[in-house]
Amino acid sequence: MSNKIKKLVIANRGEIALRILRACRQMGILTVALHSEADKDAKYVRLADESVCIGPAPASQSYLNIASVIAAAEVTQANAVHPGYGFLSENADFAEQVEKSGFVFVGPDADTIRIMGDKISAIATMKKAGVPCVPGSDGPLPDEPEAMQKLAQEIGYPLMVKATGGGGGKGMRVVRSAADLIEAVQTTQKEAAAAFGNGQLYMERFLEKPRHIEFQVLADTYGNAVHLGDRDCSLQRKHQKVIEEAPAPGISPETRNEIGARCVEACKQIGYRGVGTFEFLYEDGEFFFIEMNTRIQVEHPVTEMITGIDLLQEQIRVANGERLRFSQDDIHFRGHAFECRINAEDPQTFMPSPGRITHYHMAGGPGVRVDSHVYTNYFVPPYYDSMVGKIITHGMDRSEALTRMNGALQEMVVEGIKTNLSLHRELINDPEFGKGGCDIHYLENKHAIV
Ligand code: ADP
Repeated sequence: MSNKIKKLVIANRGEIALRILRACRQMGILTVALHSEADKDAKYVRLADESVCIGPAPASQSYLNIASVIAAAEVTQANAVHPGYGFLSENADFAEQVEKSGFVFVGPDADTIRIMGDKISAIATMKKAGVPCVPGSDGPLPDEPEAMQKLAQEIGYPLMVKATGGGGGKGMRVVRSAADLIEAVQTTQKEAAAAFGNGQLYMERFLEKPRHIEFQVLADTYGNAVHLGDRDCSLQRKHQKVIEEAPAPGISPETRNEIGARCVEACKQIGYRGVGTFEFLYEDGEFFFIEMNTRIQVEHPVTEMITGIDLLQEQIRVANGERLRFSQDDIHFRGHAFECRINAEDPQTFMPSPGRITHYHMAGGPGVRVDSHVYTNYFVPPYYDSMVGKIITHGMDRSEALTRMNGALQEMVVEGIKTNLSLHRELINDPEFGKGGCDIHYLENKHAIV
């Protein structure tokens, strides 16, 4: 085994910083935890071999500050940088600067991030590889209103106008009739130009009641790639996932393998390296690609539970230039897993609820895993995402995993701040959710009625 990566900078915070740290420890890699002033007392920072304060609390001055992150890597003589998720993880310029400065970037190369970050080029790349996409404009919208109307007519209403550079659920608009098209395009164009510095738009068919199903892939630098099955992440609020599970209910092994194989083919065609996720909308038995995430995802543990593969370690291994240690035939799916994201927020209004945790008790027992950086007396800072941890359960089948999640949610105690634990307890016992296969609007519709 080559051992390029000896000391790795964790350019992130919270539970994923701790998750990366745990993987490194098991691999004998030294860690450098980067932190803002607001995170200086966090226990995971102290668990790292070294730590560097990279700036004040606001992310723009710390976790998003490329120069500070690279300077910290240089000062500590680290030789790799792990971006985690969020923050700089899908910033192609960051990946490029990390590599140009002589460090290993734990992720795909900058050009791949750039192609996948531009939705039109991502869709074009996927189509070429035989990945099914949402029927749409297959490129930027024409400038002339007549041509735009004609194209929209061909796609059919309702449709969605989307920004090429969009992200985080922003820069998209549903259009239900030809009369609304031009105005919707103009408004979205202005928003996209302001938010992403790129006003380019495209159109695709709007799916009314899809599920969100995504595929996990892993690829090395020698042209080997595998898929690790699917996850259903349809329980969402404002495009934020709330509960995820693997495998996706009701998808046959044949279909899973067929779509997975297309994703693998796409990885090979683009020379993909590392872990990645192909996100699809699934409606009436059909998959439609919407985007690729070129990083580790929050919900990766459900895949780890059903495959027994440590995705963080494998991600670091392929970044280290090692070959994949297994082929597709070696990957077996065992049982079922759920993940509930615990957020510091009001369960009714969803308003963030930062503050001090006065009492914390972690759930446990067979098939229960809690990924969290918090503890009694931890102060949840108000500056960042409100997620404070994840409860993951695994069982022989969906019903056992669900029962274990129910038990874990009863046992879990987080006091001093408001959390969405009560919402999870309700959802896990919801009969419709129990059946499996809810669409992406289920949670918002249910909450609107309650
Ligand atoms: P972002 O990069 O902003 O996350 P996505 O393309 O992944 O944008 O879309 C975000 C969400 O918007 C999806 O998870 C889905 O809920 C909804 N959405 C996107 N495209 C469509 C579509 N064609 N039809 C219906 N809903 C869509």
